[in-house]
Amino acid sequence: MSFTLAIVGRPNVGKSTLFNRLVGKRLALVDDQPGVTRDLREGAARLADLKFTVIDTAGLEEVTDDSLQGRMRRLTERAVDMADVCLFMIDARVGVTPSDLVFADILRKRSAHVILAANKAEGKAADAGVIEAYSLGLGEPIRMSAEHGEGLNDLYTSLMPISDGFAEKAMEDTPETDVDLTEEDAAEGDVVPQPTDAKPLQVAVVGRPNAGKSTLINQIMGEDRLLTGPEAGITRDAISLRMDWNGVPMRIFDTAGMRKKAKVQEKLEKLSVSDGLRAVKFAEVVVVLLDAEIPFEQQDLRIADLAEREGRAVVVAVNKWDVEDDRQAKLKSLKESFERLLPQLRGAPLITVSAKTGRGLDRLHDAIMRAYDVWNRRVSTAQLNRWLTGMLEQHPPPAPQGKRIKLRYMTQAKTRPPGFVVMCSHPDKVPDSYNRYLVNGLRLDFDMPGTPIRLWMRGQN
Ligand code: GDP
Ligand code: GDP
Repeated sequence: MSFTLAIVGRPNVGKSTLFNRLVGKRLALVDDQPGVTRDLREGAARLADLKFTVIDTAGLEEVTDDSLQGRMRRLTERAVDMADVCLFMIDARVGVTPSDLVFADILRKRSAHVILAANKAEGKAADAGVIEAYSLGLGEPIRMSAEHGEGLNDLYTSLMPISDGFAEKAMEDTPETDVDLTEEDAAEGDVVPQPTDAKPLQVAVVGRPNAGKSTLINQIMGEDRLLTGPEAGITRDAISLRMDWNGVPMRIFDTAGMRKKAKVQEKLEKLSVSDGLRAVKFAEVVVVLLDAEIPFEQQDLRIADLAEREGRAVVVAVNKWDVEDDRQAKLKSLKESFERLLPQLRGAPLITVSAKTGRGLDRLHDAIMRAYDVWNRRVSTAQLNRWLTGMLEQHPPPAPQGKRIKLRYMTQAKTRPPGFVVMCSHPDKVPDSYNRYLVNGLRLDFDMPGTPIRLWMRGQN
């Protein structure tokens, strides 16, 4: 038992691109199936641990102009009626068009669940369109780039409660669940979806093989649900586990969950890296788990940097603290290495833990909650502009070729992570060092450690 998602929207917004991304290789099989109409494509989709059916209305592309409205309406209505949830896609580079309004109207009247996505949002050019999307009255748009795979985490977050609804129904009907489990996994009792009211916080625990990821998650769960062992790389595939940690519902992505022995070690190493990447994409908070004995290895730095670039809240945890003798000296050197090797994560919390004994786990929990809170932080426009005035006085922007850059006005355009837009003259001429000055100032003055901060300079037109 699973749900059906219809992707609707006017031609050329990127529906097929998302469809293909969700369906992946399975597409080829789908095309050969009888009964699939020419203009509604159906496929088996997968997004992390979610499995569902996806319908794409991309056939509209070949339709001629005069018949477009009518056919578009009929096809969309058919897709909407077949689906449990609709993803309504607009092109953020173009903004909201009259056709988009027609779609919004159909969806408001006909669909129980609508998720709004502003696609092609991979650059600054899309900022205005994303903001315009709010005017459709369908809630907060997901900022998406189907082509680059961005925004899938937010899509996952939006689909999760719907999926849980169906999992719940399925459990009432039969003892089976709709989660893709092999028989062995099911026997171990892993990954059984628990219906819940609150959205679980999505946390990824990433780190080198043997850093202690499985031990940490076992400790949090308070029982030996995952096996741990000294063998490097014996696990593969990211899975997610639902749990309550100190009363907070969480979904923890583990990159060391399944314990199937594979034949080729090399293949496993490759898998574990890409699983780490996948876990980061779906997480809200990323815990980078380091081994105190060998901290800040290349692999650790790569994944921490990826988490920052993907805009996740980050907590760094140093594990195996129980075997450390001179803790004070060790902590000092860790902090120095952190600042030197990961300047892009400045201010992120560094927590020492022992996954084995459980020491430090409450502090880790608190750091995760706080990082999540900061990641969601919204600062009022009035506060920002008062602050900007002070910053400009303290350190005025440079004057390339004698022409002073004017920073006029500032507002927060987004959260998760916090992103700010500064209206200014000559946005291209603002040097990186001045951007950094502002970002560091924001972090310090508004107390936003542990989250990436985005800042865009925009010219007025
Ligand atoms: P559909 O008609 O809605 O199914 O749209 P398509 O998926 O066929 O995409 C239309 C065009 O937009 C294609 O050229 C895609 O490569 C492009 N496109 C799709 N998604 C994105 C995106 O996220 N960013 C950008 N820049 N282009 C995209
Ligand atoms: P993973 O590959 O990151 O999942 O690492 P595991 O959880 O399998 O742990 C690798 C090894 O490190 C095992 O032998 C664990 O017992 C050991 N280990 C994990 N956490 C700790 C810790 O806090 N202290 C000590 N001393 N050993 C630990």
